[in-house]
Amino acid sequence: MMKHINNITGMKEEIAQLKAAKKTIGFVPTMGSLHEGHLQLVEKATQQVDVVIMSIFVNPLQFGENEDFDTYPRDLANDLQLAKQHGVHQVFTPTADDMYPNTMSVTMNVQRGADILCGSSRPGHFDGVATVVMKLFNIIEPDVAYFGMKDAQQVAIIKQMVADYHLNVTIVPIPTVREEDGLAMSSRNVNLSHMERQEAPHIYKTLAEAKSKALQGHFKTVAQLEEWVNHTLKKRLVLGKVDYIYFLKFPSLTRPSTIAGSAILATAVHYEKTRLIDNVTWEQ
Ligand code: AMP
Repeated sequence: MMKHINNITGMKEEIAQLKAAKKTIGFVPTMGSLHEGHLQLVEKATQQVDVVIMSIFVNPLQFGENEDFDTYPRDLANDLQLAKQHGVHQVFTPTADDMYPNTMSVTMNVQRGADILCGSSRPGHFDGVATVVMKLFNIIEPDVAYFGMKDAQQVAIIKQMVADYHLNVTIVPIPTVREEDGLAMSSRNVNLSHMERQEAPHIYKTLAEAKSKALQGHFKTVAQLEEWVNHTLKKRLVLGKVDYIYFLKFPSLTRPSTIAGSAILATAVHYEKTRLIDNVTWEQ
């Protein structure tokens, strides 16, 4: 039987029992509207731990004022069903009032890796992510937590937070799950118009092409690679507007001087009602 717990006190009681019984806890934090991407995190967790706990919480703190908090898709009934079918043991759905009863007196502020990629287009976003993940880690006390590489910057920042604060949790990154046409699965995809949905697979196609060209030695400099992606994406996307294209070292998220090494090529594209992100990573 899957348990559904909707408050912090109740969740902590469950955790105390699990810890007393020496169960290992795997944690899958989400904002709900579950799709196959989320379920791959669950799948990995079920292989590695005794008890899989998923949180579903649309975290107001990580949305900017003009962002899509209000229109972010929510479908708890369906999520609970999917979670149950895929072997989640406990679903935690706290309210915003429970999570943020007062203005916080001590806040999380991401210093490294937050001024680039999504950090520059979404000021405060990663502070909101770090805050909620820190809170959830303290409530759930997981041994292992699962994060998708679709949000690669999030993976890098959370790993850094875990190291900086000596948290006893292992972060396991999961490769991006895609639709058949290559589009990265995202809860936000439902907010694409029909025409936008037709166009959006070009985002991944372009990144994947750039990766294969880079691996074949096609680009001499980082600037050349970014310029090719910029030019190609702008040519292929009629409805989408490119927000950023970055080629960075991964996971340090620093600017590389050459194309060699462990790297991420990431982009964000604005559509009318939503904004999509995607990335490819590679070693060279
Ligand atoms: P979200 O509900 O969008 O906050 O995502 C919850 C978790 O699922 C995050 O760790 C995401 O990176 C991960 N995730 C979302 N979409 C995908 C995907 N297409 N493939 C793999 N992981 C994903």
